[in-house]
Amino acid sequence: LRRHDGEYRWAIDSAAPRFGADGEFLGYIGSVFDITERKQMEEALKDADRRKDEFLAMLAHELRNPLAPIRNAVHILKKQETLATDLQWARDVIGRQVDQMTRLVDDLLDLSRITRGKIELRKERVELRSVVNDAVESSRPLIEELGHRLSVELPPQPVLLEADPTRLAQVLLNLLNNAAKYTERGGHIWLRAWQDNSQVVISVKDTGIGIPTTMLPRIFEMFAQVDRSLDRSLGGLGIGLTLVQQLVAMHGGDVEAHSQGPGKGSEFIVRLPVIAEQAYAISSSPVTNEPAPFVSRLRILVADDNQDSADSLALFLSITGHEVHTAHDGLTAVIEAERFQPNVILLDIGMPKLNGYEAARRIREQSGNNVLLIALTGWGQEEDRRRSKEAGFDHHLTKPVDFDALSRLLAEQMV
Ligand code: ADP
Repeated sequence: LRRHDGEYRWAIDSAAPRFGADGEFLGYIGSVFDITERKQMEEALKDADRRKDEFLAMLAHELRNPLAPIRNAVHILKKQETLATDLQWARDVIGRQVDQMTRLVDDLLDLSRITRGKIELRKERVELRSVVNDAVESSRPLIEELGHRLSVELPPQPVLLEADPTRLAQVLLNLLNNAAKYTERGGHIWLRAWQDNSQVVISVKDTGIGIPTTMLPRIFEMFAQVDRSLDRSLGGLGIGLTLVQQLVAMHGGDVEAHSQGPGKGSEFIVRLPVIAEQAYAISSSPVTNEPAPFVSRLRILVADDNQDSADSLALFLSITGHEVHTAHDGLTAVIEAERFQPNVILLDIGMPKLNGYEAARRIREQSGNNVLLIALTGWGQEEDRRRSKEAGFDHHLTKPVDFDALSRLLAEQMV
């Protein structure tokens, strides 16, 4: 009910029809009370909420402006090869922190766009693999900084989606970054995808701190965070998963969080529709369930005193997509192992300054079991294998190297 001037509003609490002695309808009797104040309060809150959203949007936008030139300046400093070590350190600190700040501001901007319904997808036909590659490349610096191992496994056949490639990559990137952030240093992260009828299922799984069962249903809510008291140097605003859920929904899919509880790791599962012809092509062709290992990029150190031998192997490995460094004696190999932090080291045994066995021992001392050590030698006798095992090698390959065997060992590193 409204007063004629529209100022006041009334609500009817209860109303019952009343009838006269002859049964004639008299009208309704009920109590009416004034809800003007409540309405005014609700409107004020809505207004405040809208203004907060507008403020966040403006804030994010304004914060973004000064970030771009800072990042550019860092890139210019990176080109400066003669920078003193302490200045390099300062440059890298600025670079890392400004990247983190950019991520936060971008999230804030997206959040305000989402709450105001302003995100529009630019959908096109995209191949899952290229979206995954983009996300993996963007998350790699954080994953490497935290010393995690990443394994990526995609279906052998192309998976076509009707999607906005940038937004979909953002979804996977958020999940990968979370997996990295919420996992103790040196953990393992898997990104796997497989086809399930007309859907593709993408799982991002980690060996991290896990999520308490009570928190699972609320984890996608805006600003939801399990523990705000933790060291939040890597934390965000609690927006990432909200964005993930919204963006996945806008693609016609859904996302679920799984965890056996604290310390038991987490798994996020995204389901997305694949486009129809694709579903048809898949179901009408014989499909093997065998997923081909997708070889993500490893950092590999090749140490061999025969320069041509080292260089040709390095060339082969970099063509396969890995990042490769070389060393030509044992001592340099040890130093380079510390500096470059490779995932895999291929060591020749007979090398000057420090032989392969000694180099392997020192590398194990400094890097522990975080690195796969492969002996590459002309000597393949039982005794040689025993000695390389003792020195801490994981595998022993004989020269000339069997590239297939080597590729298989490397693929295992990534599964
Ligand atoms: P943010 O990371 O900025 O806090 P998110 O929305 O991305 O926000 O994540 C919300 C919360 O969910 C995080 O604060 C964290 O407590 C929890 N979380 C997300 N991903 C993981 C994960 N892989 N493992 C454990 N906890 C996670």
